[in-house]
Amino acid sequence: MAVLVTGATGFIAQWVIHYLLRENYRVIGTVRSQEKGDKLHRQFGSPSNLSFEIVEDISDTEAFEPIFEKRGNIIDIVLHTASPFHFNTSNYEKDLLIPAVNGTKGVLNAIKKYGNVKHIVVTSSYAAIGDVTKFADGSCVFTEKDWNPTTWKGCQTDPVNAYFGSKKFAEEAAWQFNKENNVSLTTINPVLVFGPQKFEEEVTSQLNTSNEVINGLIHSKPGDKIEPDEHFVYVDVRDVAKAHLVAFQKGLSGQRLGLCNNRFSSQDILDILNEKFPQLNVSKGPEPGKGDTRPGALFDNSRSKKLLGFPFIGLEQSVYDTVFQVLNKEGNL
Ligand code: NDP
Repeated sequence: MAVLVTGATGFIAQWVIHYLLRENYRVIGTVRSQEKGDKLHRQFGSPSNLSFEIVEDISDTEAFEPIFEKRGNIIDIVLHTASPFHFNTSNYEKDLLIPAVNGTKGVLNAIKKYGNVKHIVVTSSYAAIGDVTKFADGSCVFTEKDWNPTTWKGCQTDPVNAYFGSKKFAEEAAWQFNKENNVSLTTINPVLVFGPQKFEEEVTSQLNTSNEVINGLIHSKPGDKIEPDEHFVYVDVRDVAKAHLVAFQKGLSGQRLGLCNNRFSSQDILDILNEKFPQLNVSKGPEPGKGDTRPGALFDNSRSKKLLGFPFIGLEQSVYDTVFQVLNKEGNL
């Protein structure tokens, strides 16, 4: 049995590969270049059951066809994690929406044309569920049944909204494909993902988009104004990765799995930093010890938690492990 993991270099995908290898699956990762594949293979200790195929740009709807033409007969499971997650663009269609949607359609069409895949897991997001205009509404509770109401044109106001749209339209394309082809499909819908990189070598001055929230606070100074002052929802990367495996192992077909542990605020993270790493002397924040004081929408994912059946890592552990790794790399512990 082989598992194809698209976007193998990603923050989440590297943990997915870690758990797959730990359970002795044969893993094929897609990477954008030979160099990236060679590096990742070395980082994982060069196991014989890990190999890579090159997919330079998922915007090309036929990008996945050569892989399935060549190895489709041995790929049983597809975990499609590849999708742009950054806000460094003003060309929202080209850099966010099109790769997200075409990547999803492309891998699904290649499966249909050449593959013999038993289960497909698509990494979607809470961004496909939540309505950004209601995130500050404390009376609002989203569940896995909800859809972000944004439109293709309407989401192109700024990179954050465009990213949210990219996840919605990509996930819609996956469910549409499922309706037309009756495949076994699960989507994973995580909120903001914190946690350590799989390999400390990947820690640089700028971390992946979601961990930048923590990285900014690590490098804050006493008296700094906390900008942006985040009040949102989080989950740990190791739980997100595990959910990708449980989705196909338990055959959770037709499910959108909402992955969220709880709400957090920048103040919560500063409190953890000040308690666990006092030597950093970071900002105390506006209201030390008060926690998340602002009302905000909740994500009731109790149904998904029950289906998954494992406990989620808490904020303190997630932040501690992330920060420990950054400081270790910086020689600052
Ligand atoms: P990363 O940016 O770390 O990983 C993204 C992956 O997608 C990388 O392997 C990247 O390749 C690949 N990729 C992006 N654009 C293209 C493209 N045009 N062609 C080919 N490959 C591409 O992000 P995460 O690991 O955080 O995210 C993984 C998935 O999880 C995404 O689908 C994201 O939307 C979703 N998600 C993430 C959350 C988070 O908080 N981190 C929350 C909810 C969902 P390369 O490294 O070479 O650029």
